[in-house]
Amino acid sequence: MAVVALVAAAGSGERLGRGEPKAFVPCGGRPLLEWSLDVLSGACDRVVVAVPPGYEHGRDRVSGAASRSASVRDALLAAPEAEIVVVHDAARPLVTRELVERCVAAVRDGWEGAVAAVRVTDTIKQAAPGGRVVRTLERASLWSIQTPQAFRAEALRRALDVPDAVLSAATDDASLVEAAGGAVRVIEASPENIKVTSSLDLGLAQTLLRARRGEGPPC
Ligand code: C5P
Repeated sequence: MAVVALVAAAGSGERLGRGEPKAFVPCGGRPLLEWSLDVLSGACDRVVVAVPPGYEHGRDRVSGAASRSASVRDALLAAPEAEIVVVHDAARPLVTRELVERCVAAVRDGWEGAVAAVRVTDTIKQAAPGGRVVRTLERASLWSIQTPQAFRAEALRRALDVPDAVLSAATDDASLVEAAGGAVRVIEASPENIKVTSSLDLGLAQTLLRARRGEGPPC
């Protein structure tokens, strides 16, 4: 089955505040995006990347859209041969080939989606706008969701075929597949697979990547 990775790399990176799109900010001596590309190109048949306007040079680069899931939809349109799709955020440079392969294996086993996830270790409360706690959620069944997220391509195509407003409200692609009735499972991942959002995350990612290359002690 043709396995195609779609990398969401079209964000502006405003929260990181480095003056360039987050995926192109240097991390451990190379643009953040390249760490994920190395792993995904080893694990998948092809990698299509959604990039910000002006960064489309090169093969398999498509222009990103206004929201993350719309960027994924547009990247998927460039991969009509895909039978299994692996969606990954460029903002997670610590992804491993083993994790990608476990997500893909679950889809081969018949799941419509399989998402990298870690068990929640904090207590999670829901609060009203004024701050008053409404309820405390039962932690034992809660997972914090990451990427990679692997899908049967047809299920993802159907799930992404919704209005732009629905796509921009989605915080991941699996929720769209779930909303369309697809069976999605969690795949236990490492808490090291962090998402770079702030400068603190960027520093931590750098330390972890250097440790992985044997250039320093792990955190
Ligand atoms: O903003 P956030 O960190 O949640 O974005 C997650 C990923 O989605 C990033 O890798 C970012 O580049 C990508 N993205 C995108 N298109 C957008 C917004 C974000 O590809 N319009």
